Amino acid sequence: MMNETLRFYVPIPAFETHMEITAGPELARQMQSVLRLRPNDEVILINGAGSACVARIQAFTGRAAQLLVEQLLLLQTEPPITVRLYQGMLKSAKFEWIIQKGTEIGVTAFIPVISEHSIKGLDEVSSTKKQRWRSIAIEAMEQSGRSTLPAIEEPAPFQQALQSAAKHCNATFLAWEESGKQQRTTGNYKEKSGFQPALANVIQYTQVERLVIALFIGPEGGFSELEVQMAQAAGAKIVSLGPRILRAETAAIAAAILTISACGGM
Ligand code: SAH
Repeated sequence: MMNETLRFYVPIPAFETHMEITAGPELARQMQSVLRLRPNDEVILINGAGSACVARIQAFTGRAAQLLVEQLLLLQTEPPITVRLYQGMLKSAKFEWIIQKGTEIGVTAFIPVISEHSIKGLDEVSSTKKQRWRSIAIEAMEQSGRSTLPAIEEPAPFQQALQSAAKHCNATFLAWEESGKQQRTTGNYKEKSGFQPALANVIQYTQVERLVIALFIGPEGGFSELEVQMAQAAGAKIVSLGPRILRAETAAIAAAILTISACGGM
């Protein structure tokens, strides 16, 4: 950590060499007071939209920091595919954990899904909470060295989320613990409901760079039978993540890792 150049999120459309950048009070305070950076120190700036640069701190003036872009930087840290994680609403702490870990792993978008068994009363997410989710994603992006800030979209009712997935993605997978039910008693795990064979099948027919994959993970209470049927009718593949029942947040991260890894992104 000590030798590593620190990374900061500065949401400007594009960096250019010799560009002067003024970082606002929050970032300036972080640089000066928290991290004890000084004029002449080098930092990496990331715009969250794929662009990054090396910049040098010129001065701290008032509550701002003046920086000068020295060199554009090509961060090759994004996974080759796009993963959209449709997550049944959970208790906030768990959802925050998913945002943090999912961002590190390479998830492109998080979509909270209002489903039959999801935590109630979350249809209206307060702006404070949205801001908090966003800060978590920003911090995880900076920390992991990604160049792109994942989107955290508005909560969507299950049916609408299915439609959005069908529109945006080449393939939709819905993780259902019941699809692995037989495996638990027969020990036969090489069956077709496994996530990996289903994923391999999709990868085989589409160029990885063009792949946009939707992962539906249930809330703590799981998906209802009806929801699973609806998903199937909408063309989603219902898959198992193995014979053990995972917590929702474990399932989300496991599915993201399997997907990105299968596409050569890990
Ligand atoms: N309905 C269960 C547990 C839900 S686990 C119960 O309450 O007993 C939460 C979510 O994680 C599920 O909706 C599913 O999407 C995912 N999940 C957990 N274990 C899984 C497995 N073995 N296979 C597929 N999905 C799983």
